[in-house]
Amino acid sequence: MDIFSQKIERSELKEGDHIYTWRKKFYSHHGIFVGEGKVIHFVNDKREDEGSHFLAPFKILSSGTDHKKKGPCSMSYCGLEKVAGSGVKVSCIDCFLKKGSLCLFKYQASREFLLAKTVGGTCTMAESDPPEEVMHRTMYLYENGYGKYDLRNNNCEDFALYCKTGLWSTDKGSQGRSSQINMVRPTRHAKKERDMVERITQIATSIPRSFSKRENKDLGHRTDVVKVPVEELSSFRRSLNQ
Ligand SMILES: [Zn+2]
Repeated sequence: MDIFSQKIERSELKEGDHIYTWRKKFYSHHGIFVGEGKVIHFVNDKREDEGSHFLAPFKILSSGTDHKKKGPCSMSYCGLEKVAGSGVKVSCIDCFLKKGSLCLFKYQASREFLLAKTVGGTCTMAESDPPEEVMHRTMYLYENGYGKYDLRNNNCEDFALYCKTGLWSTDKGSQGRSSQINMVRPTRHAKKERDMVERITQIATSIPRSFSKRENKDLGHRTDVVKVPVEELSSFRRSLNQ
């Protein structure tokens, strides 16, 4: 048995689990399991659905009803957003996985575990909060939105990490906490490039960070992160940008 394997059976999942699946060889997609076969995750609408994705941070465009773009799934709830255009969606596990394997993100990973992982987006040394707190944050962000998708600073892994830990960076220039972005440092060209798809490819092909740098960047090691209650996250993020 591979002691570093993070594959998990659906029957083993518990509410508040942070799960992920590989979408491409080098890109993992993340979400929070909320029970009854449902996953809440943060997607880049522009890339996933080719639809309108813009949403000012936490601005509620409409509420009270769930919004859905037509999809092939037979589950009535699958693909719903509480806040239209927010990118925070509830999906069935099948649609979340898109035929990929189901994996459990590891918290309180040891140095050895971190070292054994040659790709990011699988573990952190940070500690997870109890499932009730994780569920509260996740449902709150589903109801209210989570701001605009940004590959470097606010991606699907950042969403799940925040739901699990409540941690947010006070460093205005480096908001992103996701381990798959921390795994690499951008090439000069990647810094200039703005196109999202291009950037994903460039990040994947840029130079891997040394282990010590990766360890220092890990959410469990960073000194610039603080716990932010989910109800205050919107105003906290606004104050950082002032
Ligand atoms: Zn579905």
